[in-house]
Amino acid sequence: MNNIRVRFAPAPTGYLHIGGARTALFTWLFARKNNGTFILRIDDTDEARSTEESLRGILDSLRWLGLDWDEGPEIGGPHAPYFQSERTDIYQKHIQKLLDSGNAYHCYCTKEEIDAEKAKVGPWNYRYNGKCRQLTEADKRHYEAEGRKPTVRLKVAGDAIVVPDLIKGYVEFKAETLDDFIIVRSNGTPLYNFTSTVDDSLMRITHVIRGEDHLTNTPKQILIYQALGFETPKFAHAPTVLDTEGRKLSKRRHGELVSIGFYRDNGYLPEAMVNFLVRLGWSYDDKEEMFTVDELLEKFDIGRVGKSASIFDIQKLKWLNREYIMKRDIHDRTNLVIPFLRKAGLLNDDELTTDRRVWLEKLVEAVGDRMTTLADIENSSFFFVDEIEYDKKAVKKSLKRDFVPGLLRDLKSIFAELQPFDENTVEAKIREYAGQSGLGGKVMLPIRVAITGKSFGPGLFESLTLLGRDKVLQRIDKAMELLRPTNT
Ligand code: GLU
Repeated sequence: MNNIRVRFAPAPTGYLHIGGARTALFTWLFARKNNGTFILRIDDTDEARSTEESLRGILDSLRWLGLDWDEGPEIGGPHAPYFQSERTDIYQKHIQKLLDSGNAYHCYCTKEEIDAEKAKVGPWNYRYNGKCRQLTEADKRHYEAEGRKPTVRLKVAGDAIVVPDLIKGYVEFKAETLDDFIIVRSNGTPLYNFTSTVDDSLMRITHVIRGEDHLTNTPKQILIYQALGFETPKFAHAPTVLDTEGRKLSKRRHGELVSIGFYRDNGYLPEAMVNFLVRLGWSYDDKEEMFTVDELLEKFDIGRVGKSASIFDIQKLKWLNREYIMKRDIHDRTNLVIPFLRKAGLLNDDELTTDRRVWLEKLVEAVGDRMTTLADIENSSFFFVDEIEYDKKAVKKSLKRDFVPGLLRDLKSIFAELQPFDENTVEAKIREYAGQSGLGGKVMLPIRVAITGKSFGPGLFESLTLLGRDKVLQRIDKAMELLRPTNT
């Protein structure tokens, strides 16, 4: 490993969302590609909102995506602890250092006083006026006697800050946009910009890769690095992810569609998700859409992440998922659909017998590329259940025709006798009947609807043999029943 060190630093206050996962992926690829170290740090300073459940969910989602970490929770490492909640002493020490060097100071202004200042100029134009910069010891004692609890502010010199960004280029923050900002709240808890800077320095982070929403924090963090005498890492801010209508992805608007766990639970493959996530901002050329992880490890370049917003288009993810499902061999694909069949109550055997497994593999083969997600295997429920539902439209269009009762009757006696009841024989016999009866291609759809209840599905001859003679005969009876004049 060389000295490239990068980190992903989620707050465990919810699930891993699309934007976070995209950041984690870019960071992981950058580490792996450069033979560097990928660190997972948990930003859990918000005690009230951080939960063990969210932490578990985030770790599970990262693992599911294949984003393994070299240092962090459950692994440890030379810069432990990797939970900010366990690093309070470290932050205290560095705050004291800044206070001692005169780079930070206690500010006794109350929220009411600040709000009154803000009201005068408007919240956007407001900059702290530095009132508490020059307090004497007597002033401080006076405020403390009043019961005021101080915040800690960083003393900011007032120069413009330029952020050199590997994605955005040089981003300038004008001097007048910066003021003496708060690094420790009046209740003593240090703020994100401070804890993140201290940890990134102590953990020897060389490149900070994160979402564009943090770009405005970066000049503040640069000022903290400078005040502490730390080296500033390099930065890369990935573009915001928007929906197809140009709106920011949010839990409120898009619900569970922003959560990685949703995709795992609903039959998306991790490799499809990784491919989809990497394309939220990164491109190789104008043509290629599909990239395996190995290809990404070869081709990914943080410098080729675009500046403009990335568009989250679920249709593209669906397309990729279907492609990746088909890339798995039948053995794998069968294993993948089994949990979905169980969940749908279609497969109840504790353990599959060899025969059942062979049958299931044939079924999955027959379903072929008709699955956009693994959960779509449920569309083939007619193979599993005893009683099928008939689609009304299909019945009307394909079964309620003059020739169908005769056709079903004939087929019933043909199928009852057929030896063996296998795909080739079934196909040959149906084709022979189609020719002899003069019905030709018209026979196919009524048979399909009679035995599956629907107009669409896997190949007819495969479906008939997968169902087996008994079920086929039962279903033909049921369809004939449906066509009786009393039922029409
Ligand atoms: N905990 C921060 C977040 O989740 C980390 C931001 C950063 O990467 O600096 O937004």
